Amino acid sequence: MHGSYSTVEVNARRESSPLYWLSTQEGPAPPELEGLGLRQGKPAGAGAEICFVPLGAGDPAPTGLALRRLLGPDEYLIGVADPATGAFCADDVLQAGFDDVLQLDRPDDIALCLARARAVLARRLQQRQDLAHVELERDYLQACIDRLPTPIFFKNAEGIYVGCNKAFEGFIGLPAEKVVGSSVYDVAPEDLARRYQQADDALLARGGEQVYECEVRYADGSLHHVAFHKAAIASEDGRLRGIAGAMLDITDRKNLEGRLIDAAERDPLTNAYNRRKFFEIATEVTDLARREGHPVSVAIIDLDHFKSINDQFGHAEGDRVLCATAALLESAAGDGITVARAGGEEFYVLFPGLALTMAAEIAETMRRQVSDAGLLPDVEEATGTLSVGVAELDPLCSTLWDALKEADEALYRAKRTGRNRVCVARRQSGYASAG
Ligand code: GH3
Ligand code: MG
Ligand code: MG
Repeated sequence: MHGSYSTVEVNARRESSPLYWLSTQEGPAPPELEGLGLRQGKPAGAGAEICFVPLGAGDPAPTGLALRRLLGPDEYLIGVADPATGAFCADDVLQAGFDDVLQLDRPDDIALCLARARAVLARRLQQRQDLAHVELERDYLQACIDRLPTPIFFKNAEGIYVGCNKAFEGFIGLPAEKVVGSSVYDVAPEDLARRYQQADDALLARGGEQVYECEVRYADGSLHHVAFHKAAIASEDGRLRGIAGAMLDITDRKNLEGRLIDAAERDPLTNAYNRRKFFEIATEVTDLARREGHPVSVAIIDLDHFKSINDQFGHAEGDRVLCATAALLESAAGDGITVARAGGEEFYVLFPGLALTMAAEIAETMRRQVSDAGLLPDVEEATGTLSVGVAELDPLCSTLWDALKEADEALYRAKRTGRNRVCVARRQSGYASAG
């Protein structure tokens, strides 16, 4: 047996860090371990080391647990059992918090014990270094995304938030500690949460990326147009592990788009649709009506004696009457009916799905409401009234242009027969009204 001491000594010399002998009785290490050069006691804060601990005859648990409490989980504790003092069970020793057991009557095991200890400590050190590296990278990334004004979030495959940045905290109105561990139903109003969840489910089912725009309300009450950019996160074996998402604020772009669309489609004075938009809508509506056999009617409205309004009250007053008339026409039109300023003091109206009589009745309501509104003081000629010509498009044999021409002829008749009245295309009906 003594021959094996040389192995012990070699192993001890190879040991870069000291080995310790921890004995509550302050007794010296047994002669079998002398070659290891064990140090008595373990200084606090010396890092994870290999410690030999004598096991008495009794239960090893109190010693193991007390040492673990004192030294923490990283020390490598080898219970040294002397069969001369009593029997022991290796499993009990391991259960008591020791990492390994050494029997003094088997000195050959000392080298094996040390080899195992070194391997475990090296592995633990590597793990600690890897973890520190990952933590550092995570901290860098968190610092980066916290500097971005775009809300960013991460969810696991179960839809639970696992991370977010400061901008997301601001959006949701909760600190990251409250967001992480919550589901979207915990942090968003139910209707929005359902929408987000459906989008997430679709993304997780399909993988890849997802972009969609929607309007969201921030925690401070402000409404924003947001483009969600989400990507499914997959592990190397293709298993979906969660979702990373960013919310790009596109409010300014949307507002600008809205203004550009308005500028292209609307008349800047009255804010009614312009002529171009009227023909765009009318072409679509008449094409559809032709395919499906639905009626379509059109009306041309012209303000009476408008020139004399300008002449008597000034151009600005003329503008005011035009705007007020446009607003009255819009409110009388109702859903689905398009009112557009065709130019000057003339408006076009499109009645999808309405035959001549119904369209003429609505035109009559428009005429009456404008007349009753008393837009001008009762001065000769400047009546603040309007004349209307209405025509129905024959989907089989006439075009939009034919119908507008017929409506114009009817309007001319309305003017000639006294103004402030609705006339319908002659070919179609004898309908006429007079205010
Ligand atoms: P009628 O009853 O026969 O339609 O007579 P009218 O005076 O309305 O018709 P006329 O075509 O002679 O005059 C239209 C006037 O509308 C002439 C033009 O100066 C005026 N007008 C056109 N556009 C605008 C506008 O944007 N603002 C103002 N204030 N006047 C406009
Ligand atoms: Mg005119
Ligand atoms: Mg006129």
